[in-house]
Amino acid sequence: MTKTTQTLILSALTIPTFALTAVAASAERPNILFIFADDHCTQAISAYGSNRIQTPGLDRIAKEGKMFWKCYVTNGICGPSRATIQTGKYSHKNGFLSNGNQFDGSQQTFPKLLQAGGYQTAVIGKWHLGTTPQGFDYFDVLKGQGPYYNPPMLTDVGAAPSEAINVSHTGYTTHIITNKALTWLKEERDEEKPFMLMYQHKAPHRNWQPGPKYLTMYDDVEIPQPETLFDDYEGRTQGAAKQTMSIEFSLSATDLKLKAPNNLTPEQRATWDAAYDPKNAEFEKANLKGKELIKWKYQRYVKDYLRCVKAVDDDIVKVLDYLDEAGLAENTVVIYSSDQGWYLGEHGWFDKRWMYEESLVTPLIVRWPGVIEPGSHDRDHITSNLDFAQTFLDLAGAEQPADMQGASLVPLFRGESPKDWRTTFYYHYYEGLGRAHNVPAHYGVTDGKHKLIHMYQYGADWELFDLERDPNELKSEYDNPEYSAKRKQLEAEITRLRALYEVPDKDPVGTKKPKSPKKLKGKKPAEEKKEAA
Ligand code: CA
Repeated sequence: MTKTTQTLILSALTIPTFALTAVAASAERPNILFIFADDHCTQAISAYGSNRIQTPGLDRIAKEGKMFWKCYVTNGICGPSRATIQTGKYSHKNGFLSNGNQFDGSQQTFPKLLQAGGYQTAVIGKWHLGTTPQGFDYFDVLKGQGPYYNPPMLTDVGAAPSEAINVSHTGYTTHIITNKALTWLKEERDEEKPFMLMYQHKAPHRNWQPGPKYLTMYDDVEIPQPETLFDDYEGRTQGAAKQTMSIEFSLSATDLKLKAPNNLTPEQRATWDAAYDPKNAEFEKANLKGKELIKWKYQRYVKDYLRCVKAVDDDIVKVLDYLDEAGLAENTVVIYSSDQGWYLGEHGWFDKRWMYEESLVTPLIVRWPGVIEPGSHDRDHITSNLDFAQTFLDLAGAEQPADMQGASLVPLFRGESPKDWRTTFYYHYYEGLGRAHNVPAHYGVTDGKHKLIHMYQYGADWELFDLERDPNELKSEYDNPEYSAKRKQLEAEITRLRALYEVPDKDPVGTKKPKSPKKLKGKKPAEEKKEAA
């Protein structure tokens, strides 16, 4: 054999082998589609047993994937939850303790690590961390909280270094975000790389403004009430009674749609006014009092919340259909979650924050064809938004940094039951009294069956719940001698977990500002600037 022939044969062997390796590698490394809602509770998902709504889109993910029933958040409000997901760390470690903080994007985050591992990363929709997204090949995010209609958004059109550009939009925010996600998937992603897309809705966050198609949905039905709509807060410490998040007292005229949003186009406004008829609603309200008025407000509120969820669910159907059409479904892990749960009238409330079940638990539904057993449930393992970062890294075959504080959920996806999996969970809400809804800062621990909470802003206020006997958490057993052994055990667990996670004895004060804050502000696009000049 001549040397030339040898080289030819080697080349013939080498090139296809390399190509095969590349194909194999991308097949092994799945795409990740993270679908994220804001304030979407399990009580408003039919797969979780809701008697108030049908969510066929989410139910499809559940039917083809796995539902987690004990996914707990570390700190149940918007910004802190997002910061925990970015970093895989508790709030005291990532510096984002309460809403209004500025996220220090210069720290280690999972998107940066995925990028380094060869993934294309994108975030579309609600970001709400105050500073420019870092670690993303593409971002197109709502400015701050973002409105339900005609949202201004900030985008990085790919020019480096990323400077956000303001872009205005007309339409319903949920659909705008979905269309952007679909456009990115269809036209803008790099097909040579696996992707990680964070597709993140504003809905169903307050103040629950439904899209034009959904305004009159549920008009002729009565939505079931939760058992605890008329909770009197007896049997617990003073915190529960002193909040300002009650359906009875805290819903505004805007919340109740006695006032229309002020940013609608004339056409949108006409559709809106026809649906809500504020004059008639004022008349109804004026003729009710006591429990009847609470019931009326509950119906007004819950229907709008559910209408917002319906738009998200319909859009999820479109996205799942696209994954099928594009042949992406098989190799894409689809994850659905929310930044925390929510009170859909339970305890007489809207909003979140508390370590009580409805807001501590967040939905987690995952589809991974060929790996996750379709229609499976995990009702036992305690999972958390603390685990998401490490899960994404594990899916991508990237290393999980030792200073991340969660665990990869991939073994649970595979149906395994790791021996060392957590059996208790630490929660810590910092925003505190005098801030939104006057909920005291508190921390606590739960093993899924019992829960011990310390409302330390009130001094020595402790609550202990037996979730099996009292799933609605109506009566604290803290002073009940029958529970003294359990109380001691959970107290010791709080001490152990605070040491494990290095929670400071004294709460970090105020906002931990990034060293060189790069506030997410945005500037005018070049053409607009020219026109203005
Ligand atoms: Ca939220």
